[in-house]
Amino acid sequence: MKLRGLKQAQIRPGTIVLVRVDWNVPIGPDGQVDRIEDYKIQRCTPTLEWLLKRKARLILATHLGRPQGKPDKRFVLHPVKRRGQYLLGRPIHYIHDVRKDAVMKALDHTYPFGIVLVENLRFYPGEEKNDRAFARELASCAQVYVNNAFGVSHRAHASVEAITHVLPSYAGRLLEEEVHHLDQALHHVRHPYVVLMGGAKIRGKIDLVKQLSSRADTMALGGGIATTVLGCNGKEVGRSLSEHREADMCVLVKSQQRKKHFLLPTDVVVANDLKSKKTQIRSIDHIQSNDIIGDLGPSSTRTIIEEIKKAKMIVWNGPMGYTENPAFDVASRKIAQGVARSKAYSLAGGGESVSLLVRYGVVNKLSFVSTGGGAMLEYLEGRKLPGVEALRTR
Ligand code: ADP
Ligand code: MG
Repeated sequence: MKLRGLKQAQIRPGTIVLVRVDWNVPIGPDGQVDRIEDYKIQRCTPTLEWLLKRKARLILATHLGRPQGKPDKRFVLHPVKRRGQYLLGRPIHYIHDVRKDAVMKALDHTYPFGIVLVENLRFYPGEEKNDRAFARELASCAQVYVNNAFGVSHRAHASVEAITHVLPSYAGRLLEEEVHHLDQALHHVRHPYVVLMGGAKIRGKIDLVKQLSSRADTMALGGGIATTVLGCNGKEVGRSLSEHREADMCVLVKSQQRKKHFLLPTDVVVANDLKSKKTQIRSIDHIQSNDIIGDLGPSSTRTIIEEIKKAKMIVWNGPMGYTENPAFDVASRKIAQGVARSKAYSLAGGGESVSLLVRYGVVNKLSFVSTGGGAMLEYLEGRKLPGVEALRTR
C-alpha cells in the first residue's frame, strides 16, 4: 500500500502544518551540533522548504535525548534549533511549550510565514505513552500533520502515531524516500547481495542477522556482532565486547548459522585497551585472554572488499571496529571506500554508521543512506512501523 504523500495534502498559503522532525542528533561538548552529526537535520530540510514554498506556516516538533517525560535542561532544543535555522536559512522561533495558546502566540509573532519549534516532546509523559489527549494538544493549532521523522517511526509515540488519528496526516518527502529505498532491499533484492553488519547493539541486531541471512548471499560480520558469533563458536575473544557469555545468545547464533554461512574475521587488530594506540594484528586463532579486538585485520578487510566488488546489492549497518579510536577505524574506512566505489545498489544506516560515512566523505556516494537506526533495522526485518503504517492509504 502506498504512502499518503505531500502531493495529496491540501496545503494553501497560510495552512498551519505540524511537522514531526527527527532532530535527535548528538550535541558536542561545546553545546553545538557539529557538521559530522547534522545529517538528519540536513535531510529533513527539503520537505520544510517544499512546504514553505507553498507558504505554509510551520510548527516543528522533535525529541532530543532521553529526558524521561519531564523537563531536563540538558535536552533543551537550542543547539538543534540553531543548526536547523542555519540549514534552512530562516529564523526559527523556539518556545518552551506545546500548548495551544503559546503556539498560537508564537505563530502570530512570526506572521506571516514563520517557523515555530515547540518544546522537546519527551519532556511530556504523554509522548512516549502514545497518549491521544497529548496528541490532541499538540495538534490543536494545526490543520495538517506531516511525519518526516523516519528515525522514530518504529515508535508508537503520540507525535508519530496517535496524532495521525487527530489530523489529516501525510508522509514528508524524506519519509517517502526512506520507505522507497528500504523497500528495494526488502522486496527487490539483487544478487549477489552482500550484507555488512557490525556495531555494538548486539542483541537487537542478531534478530536482523536472522532475517537478512535468509536473503543475503554473504553476511560479513564485524564489530561486537562478529566477536559474539566467534565466541559462540568456541573461539577465544579475550576481553572483547561480546555477548557470547549470555546463555541464550549462543543458541540464537547457532540457529542462524545453520541457515547461512557467515563471513567471519580471520584476522583482527587487538590492544590491551580500546583507547590505546599500541595495536597488533593477530590471527583469530591466536587471541590471548587479555586482548581486546578493536577492528578487522587487513586480510579480513580484503576479503570483504572482494565480496563488495562482486555485489549487485549491499546493505551496511554498524561500524566494523571501535572507530572512535583512529587506530581501529582502518577496516571501516576501507570498506566504506569500497562501497562508495561499487556500482551496486548500496544502502547504509545507523547513528554511528552515518557519522563515519560523513567523516570519510562518502555519504553521497551510496545509493541511499538512511536517517533511521533502529527504525531502519526494524523495517528491514519486515516489521510494520506504526508511524509508517498510519500513513498508508487504506
Ligand atoms: P549504529 O549506530 O551504526 O547502528 P551501533 O550503535 O550498533 O551502530 O554501534 C556503534 C558502536 O559500535 C561504535 O561506537 C563503535 O565504536 C562500536 N564498536 C564497533 N566495533 C567494536 C569493537 N570491536 N569493540 C567495541 N566497540 C565496537
Ligand atoms: Mg548507534
